[in-house]
Amino acid sequence: MSKVIIIGAGGVANVVAKKCAQNDSVFTEVLIATRTVAKADKIVAEIKEHMPDSKAVFTTATVDADNVPELVKLINDFGPKMVINVALPYQDLTIMDACLETGVHYLDTANYEPKDVAKFEYSWQWAYQDRFKEKGLMALLGCGFDPGATQAFTAHHAKHHFQEIHYLDIVDCNNGNHGKAFATNFNPEINIREITANGRYWENGQWVETQPLEISQDIYYPKVATRKSFVLYHEELESLVKHFPTIKRARFWMTFGEAYIKHLNVLEGIGMTSIEPIDFRGMKVAPIEFLKAVLPAPESLAAGYSGQTCIGVQAKGIGKDGQPKVHFVYNVKDHADCYREVQAQGVSYTTGVPAMIGAMLMLQGEWMQPGVWNVEQLDPDPFFDAMNKWGLPISELADIELVKD
Ligand code: NDP
Repeated sequence: MSKVIIIGAGGVANVVAKKCAQNDSVFTEVLIATRTVAKADKIVAEIKEHMPDSKAVFTTATVDADNVPELVKLINDFGPKMVINVALPYQDLTIMDACLETGVHYLDTANYEPKDVAKFEYSWQWAYQDRFKEKGLMALLGCGFDPGATQAFTAHHAKHHFQEIHYLDIVDCNNGNHGKAFATNFNPEINIREITANGRYWENGQWVETQPLEISQDIYYPKVATRKSFVLYHEELESLVKHFPTIKRARFWMTFGEAYIKHLNVLEGIGMTSIEPIDFRGMKVAPIEFLKAVLPAPESLAAGYSGQTCIGVQAKGIGKDGQPKVHFVYNVKDHADCYREVQAQGVSYTTGVPAMIGAMLMLQGEWMQPGVWNVEQLDPDPFFDAMNKWGLPISELADIELVKD
């Protein structure tokens, strides 16, 4: 039915490509374009080896996604209906510009972040609203798991369970073990920038700032474990409090093990997580970019990764019957199952599957509408059906408060 371009060939792109290969009645021709084309070639070779029955036709190309003219040429040569951007947040705006110029739809999994300022927010991408609307094009922002599925979970709470949501807690537990002393589960540079930044949550109409990892609580993750979890700022909080103005408090919690925090503290203490370039043998090098080169690539963690992820959203407020209510919506995914299915670890898998689903719902017309959209603005029902079908089954838990005030 549709031609698409996937930009990037890292851990998440590997999953998006393989789920497109499984869903070959929707994704008939796929071009994987990235900086290091050998990584795209490897993904295509694995698809041929592990999914010989897929009718989707895959090709690869080299592209510098920071360069708009290069992107425009790539898109014009291939002629896709949409671009799935799973490169890095730094490339969001150049890829959106190229989509506008060539008249194709756009989807990504993380909001724009300038490379030289550790700051991410939707303002840059929301500013494209009129241009996408005028051209009759859709841009779907942040359609991974968190952001992404977590916003569909919130929309589901609002549509099916609550008159008013007052308290929202997004919880993200990785209870997996990859056997390495220190590694990040997705792009190290982006991940470390997120965790070492100050925490922030929404309360009574304003943002409350915390020190990094200052607030913690033991949270029970159903079917997985009770784990110490920390408040950190996550991008979907910004759009959720905008689109659900009844929310009085919104927080995001993530688990980190003691060893992880110890390594991070040391790396930060000696300046290795800094984005400020230093002079090294006549070159300018940002320590965090050097650190990324030293750490294991996220996709290399997949073989032998054990344990599960559990990501969910707890809502508290006034239920549809007018009574106080608490409700939890979540998914549990096993790392080893992900590896068996698409040679990936759970964090890449839980991001890549919603990206494929978002693209499918756009291409099939269920979600397609001109403008720039966040996931919670769209109907969660077809997304839930597709999550259950494509490997991320959703569970619900009523009347138990997992995250305390
Ligand atoms: P990786 O670092 O594994 O992969 C990124 C890919 O993008 C690499 O193949 C890289 O190329 C390519 N790339 C980087 N810069 C350019 C460029 N200028 N031109 C072309 N290609 C480029 O990251 P992940 O796969 O782990 O993450 C991908 C995205 O998903 C990130 O934006 C991340 O923030 C997001 N994410 C979202 C989550 C969610 O739940 N919403 C969760 C996890 C991640 P090269 O191989 O040469 O380095």
